[in-house]
Amino acid sequence: MYSNSLIELDRAHLIHPVASYRGHEKLGVRVLASAKGATVTDASGRQLIDGFAGLWCVNAGYGHESIVEAATRQMRELPYATGYFGLGSEPAIRLASELAERAPGNLDHVFFTLGGSDAVDSTIRFIRYYWIGRGEPQRDQFISVEQGYHGSSTVGAGLTALPAFHAGFGIPFDWQHKIPSHYAYRNPVGDDPQAIIDASLAALRQKVEEIGPERVAAFYAEPIQGSGGVLVPPKGWMKAMRQLCQELGILFVADEVITGFGRTGPLFACHEDEIVPDFMTVAKGLTSGYVPMGAVFMGDHIYQTIADSAGAGAVGHGYTYSAHPVSAAVGLEVLKLYENELLDNGRKAGARLMAGLESLKDHPLVGDVRGRGMLAAVELVVDKEKKTPLPAKAEPARRIFDRAWENGLVIRAFANGVLGYAPPLCCTEAEIDGIVERTRKVLDETLEDPAVRSGLSD
Ligand code: PLP
Repeated sequence: MYSNSLIELDRAHLIHPVASYRGHEKLGVRVLASAKGATVTDASGRQLIDGFAGLWCVNAGYGHESIVEAATRQMRELPYATGYFGLGSEPAIRLASELAERAPGNLDHVFFTLGGSDAVDSTIRFIRYYWIGRGEPQRDQFISVEQGYHGSSTVGAGLTALPAFHAGFGIPFDWQHKIPSHYAYRNPVGDDPQAIIDASLAALRQKVEEIGPERVAAFYAEPIQGSGGVLVPPKGWMKAMRQLCQELGILFVADEVITGFGRTGPLFACHEDEIVPDFMTVAKGLTSGYVPMGAVFMGDHIYQTIADSAGAGAVGHGYTYSAHPVSAAVGLEVLKLYENELLDNGRKAGARLMAGLESLKDHPLVGDVRGRGMLAAVELVVDKEKKTPLPAKAEPARRIFDRAWENGLVIRAFANGVLGYAPPLCCTEAEIDGIVERTRKVLDETLEDPAVRSGLSD
């Protein structure tokens, strides 16, 4: 049973990430108690399909005994080993090597972090170090994409382009710049793929020109913008942007924190996009959320410059929990699961998910359906012609999430009426169908909401 005392304790003491503190105090916490496969069970016994894999991270699904065993074994043998003082542990070394083998091109070097935000943060430090090492210390300006998300660290959150992460925090810094998103459904240049790519290329060129070409350090992009509303760029967008960065002599960082580890089909989206970035950041699926871990992949040319530049001195960047052996042991086991079964299943389930969500297009509220693999979104509008978003008074983020919950489904409901999907790759056909059927119920109930009805076109 839900325990009132637990709700009270939460209210009194636990600060939730990215939450309205006052709103949360009023509503109280929903406590999750257990999970298996793609199903989560709350403390009152309600079972739900987790259509969002926690926070787009439990790619392998819940309850894999082999992952639990790998972690337990490692905790017994060696629960902690620092990477400082020239020390290390076998699972961390093996995981770095297995990952480097599978990473695009010359991304041969891996720096482990605790999650995605500190992975992004680390790239900013490494990039500054690299340019200083190259004798170009004036390259201290960074560019990212509107609607992009690059974490919640002090500097990384300034590359993030979502207003809630800036307001009240005094960021972004003046060295952090943005270009418009490729957001096809609402792009001023229309939805023609080549026009969108050309507009992004022109915007990046113009931004670099504006800042001063000799001052730009790097450009950051997600293969699919996740937290901005699952915005899928046209095929070829990443490749074109990567090539332009090369031409302009600026570094390219692919932030694969969401897209990595089978989320879009292959192990890394960069493979599908046919690019080799200078840096790649990952987290989430790296350990499938069982324990925290992220990583920075660094191109060999960057690594060699940094190493030469430091010489005998230390490169002063690292964490107590860098390359944590328990996380690494989990990472190794999860990687095996992806390659033995989950990538294949995820590709099949992803095709079924996309087809299922496409079938919702006949619903009066569905303006757009987009996605790749097991990463998708349905964008709701009250007027399909004018693409009018749901009115704010319909409180899409809270009320659509609640309706889904009541229908036994966890999805992400964005404030602008976008529904986000990122189910575990282990989903069965019945679970995928369940996600789609339950979504249709949520849409029907949303259509009955007076706040939505009042905004509908005749
Ligand atoms: N980068 C991207 C693209 C993300 O989606 C996220 C988190 O969702 C992060 C970075 C930050 O990762 P974390 O929440 O593990 O710090």
